[in-house]
Amino acid sequence: MVPFNVPPYLGAELDYIKDVVKERKICGDGAYTKKCNAWLEKHVGTKKALLTTSCTHATEMAALLCKIGPGDEVIMPSYTFVSTADAFVLRGATVVFVDIRPDTMNIDETLIEAAITDKTKAIVPVHYAGVSCEMDVIMKIAERYHLFVIEDAAQGLMSTYKGKMLGAIGDFGCYSFHETKNLSMGEGGALLIKDEKDIEMGEIIREKGTNRSKFFRGQIDKYTWVEQGSSYLPSELNAAYLYAQLERADEMISDRVASWNNYYDELKPLADAGKIELPVIPKECTHNGHMFYIKTKNLKERSEFLSFMKENNVGCVFHYIPLHTSPAGKRYGRFIGEDKYTTKESERLVRLPMYYGLKKEDCQKVCEKVKDFYK
Ligand SMILES: *Cc1c(COP(=O)(O)O)cnc(C)c1O
Repeated sequence: MVPFNVPPYLGAELDYIKDVVKERKICGDGAYTKKCNAWLEKHVGTKKALLTTSCTHATEMAALLCKIGPGDEVIMPSYTFVSTADAFVLRGATVVFVDIRPDTMNIDETLIEAAITDKTKAIVPVHYAGVSCEMDVIMKIAERYHLFVIEDAAQGLMSTYKGKMLGAIGDFGCYSFHETKNLSMGEGGALLIKDEKDIEMGEIIREKGTNRSKFFRGQIDKYTWVEQGSSYLPSELNAAYLYAQLERADEMISDRVASWNNYYDELKPLADAGKIELPVIPKECTHNGHMFYIKTKNLKERSEFLSFMKENNVGCVFHYIPLHTSPAGKRYGRFIGEDKYTTKESERLVRLPMYYGLKKEDCQKVCEKVKDFYK
């Protein structure tokens, strides 16, 4: 059996968790959380990184920081995970979906401008599969219309666009360290804050709306409730797990990229023969090997493919059901323009097994099965 995903575990995670337990400091913002924040600030290159309980929560924090409220509109692709929309819908905003590009499955930057109204507050590019959206164009539109850019970089840790790290390009960037992502802490994420002036409020929102972070730094002598906020602070136990992986992030990402390249090379002949389509990496992007997918001819062929792989003990999955077709998406959002690719392309996409430590022979075995299916 080649499973679809195996949550990463390197070994040092347990040692670091033991430290935390021994120190009797298991709540948030202890030594490991600080190390993780500092690691992200240094390696990603951002003013501030704050570890959170999830990427969903990091996005909620960004929505609060942008003061998104009822009546506001937020532009995003419909082909994304529910969290991208949830964070804004929770603030009472309307989500406005635009179509994706068929090559990267990312938001089509040329369609954004037509979706802007006087209610639009933000654009949320989702870097699908750790491959960047066309950020220069998106940032220019945002500047012209005075909109926030909140990057859903859940899958994009250590990927780049024109040399810049994803998550550190927009006003805010959101990472996920869920167990299905490249680096993990079980459940968790991080918010990146670009502008110095947003840092203090970011810390307040994360600490239940209090200025407790300032208090712990000795900058004030008592802490109090100063704004709306929530509990977005992960436990030190989770931070310890993540830190062991951040220390070896380069190696973990190279391992995935090697598997990705292996899939690509093995399956290229099938693509050349017109049987399947392979992912496209635009030349200004480097990617982190988060995901390897193929596209089948259509929905029917994908269903047959998934059954065949299941019978052959290969774990393959598909996602996402476009949000604008879902019950909540219809209630809280609207699609602007034509759904030329979102539905059609999402119905063709299949993800192949991908995880840190995927053995070359297992990768090979998966490719053999893909070839058998198309024989
Ligand atoms: C995984 C994922 C999320 C949610 O991450 P959590 O940490 O589970 O909240 C959001 N957006 C995208 C694109 C994702 O892949």
